[in-house]
Amino acid sequence: MALRSKIFAYQNGQFRLEEAADAYLSKIKQRASLKAFIHLSESSIRESALKIDTLKKKGKKLPPLAGIILAAKDNIHIKGQSTTCASRILNSFTAPFSATVVQRLQKAGALFIGKTNLDEFAMGSSGAFSAFGPTQHPFFKDTLPGGSSSGSATAVAAQLCDAALGSDTGGSVRQPAAYTNLVGLKPSYGRVSRYGLVAFASSLDQIGLLTSTVEDSALLLKYMAGYDPADATSAADPVPDYPKAITTSIRGIRIGILDDVPDETVQHQLDALADTIKTYGARVKRIHLSLLDYAVAVYYIIASAEASSNLARYDGVRYGQRASQINTLSELYQQTRSQGFGEEVQRRILLGTYVLSKGYYKTYYEKAQKVRRLILDEFQQVFKEVDVILSPTVSGPPFKLKQKADPLEMYMSDRYTIPASLSGICAMHVPLPSIASNNPGGIQIMAPAFEEERLFRVGSALEALASEAAHA
Ligand code: GLN
Repeated sequence: MALRSKIFAYQNGQFRLEEAADAYLSKIKQRASLKAFIHLSESSIRESALKIDTLKKKGKKLPPLAGIILAAKDNIHIKGQSTTCASRILNSFTAPFSATVVQRLQKAGALFIGKTNLDEFAMGSSGAFSAFGPTQHPFFKDTLPGGSSSGSATAVAAQLCDAALGSDTGGSVRQPAAYTNLVGLKPSYGRVSRYGLVAFASSLDQIGLLTSTVEDSALLLKYMAGYDPADATSAADPVPDYPKAITTSIRGIRIGILDDVPDETVQHQLDALADTIKTYGARVKRIHLSLLDYAVAVYYIIASAEASSNLARYDGVRYGQRASQINTLSELYQQTRSQGFGEEVQRRILLGTYVLSKGYYKTYYEKAQKVRRLILDEFQQVFKEVDVILSPTVSGPPFKLKQKADPLEMYMSDRYTIPASLSGICAMHVPLPSIASNNPGGIQIMAPAFEEERLFRVGSALEALASEAAHA
């Protein structure tokens, strides 16, 4: 059910929150084999549900999001609960505070039911790289839901909660959204506070949303966004009333359609979509991103470099797990990190340390930073001519459970989501069955930084178009 209807139903006394929380908890347990959750907040959600139910019973004014139940990816802190990042190295870590987004959503009356599974430290594109075992796809057997926000995607798609928080560094919200038929939003860099999000690559990380509809995404963003003194990268720009953007049409809006998509069927479908959009009064133009082919390489250099630095803090002294039977300090570091980190995380640390090392810094890291700037410049040029860009979100079908994916093949699958991350602009995946080879179908909308309203406006128009097609 759409969040707005759910809130309305709650206010009208159609259910009690305590009941709703219990119903979700038992459904999550029934579907435990999906491995969507790492941790459930059973006692705390019952307590908070009861508090709001009591307010309601007394006829007191309810907070605006009262009635909805959310989940958070397990790299986002909720005070007093474990944060594992799906890593052995954090297996005994309890969060000493809640992330700003969690605090803001809770203040607005939303409840959190638990923490969802992910690729370790949010590094991955499948949901397979978790120390707790791979998250399963909610609908297809032996298939992975995509990652790294795998558990959040499965939880929302399997209706184990109303919506979920994820984190998106290079596509980790948009890509699993594409594979599970959800709306996935990556806000602009700085739009949402990252205080309380465990750092992976700090110049790229953003907290995003996995929701069933575009309107749900707009509603939650309204309460999450805005300046936070605890995060120096959060922007002071005023937060628009995002759900209001939903009501407007796309007449007159300039839409750029990505050209040169290597998969001909997908290009053909994009062009067909362009024709349909024109009938709604939008102006459509084909656009070209000449640096698209470099984005994956640039991202994996920069993201790994930042990860190698951010993950240096897990040394066996300050956080979580510590190796035992150790004789020297360097053995402590070595053993703790070798035992605590999984294979993909170790690969990123090695790659990152390498590109930052004295002999290679200029060749790789500095070069990657320069190309990153050129990618942003190109977006800025293109956005002089169009208001939004439509492109595929993913470049192929979801990974299979038993498939031993080649790391490079997996990195290449982030081709369409990475450019928005490198440029700090905002982007959203919207399900759309007509883009069929995108499996199971949908499109990515990109807009300039701090223009999330455009995403919601165009996204809801496309959503309406998809539902018209389904009912035709
Ligand atoms: N798949 C990308 C990676 O592995 C993106 C991850 C993310 O957005 N957190 O780095």
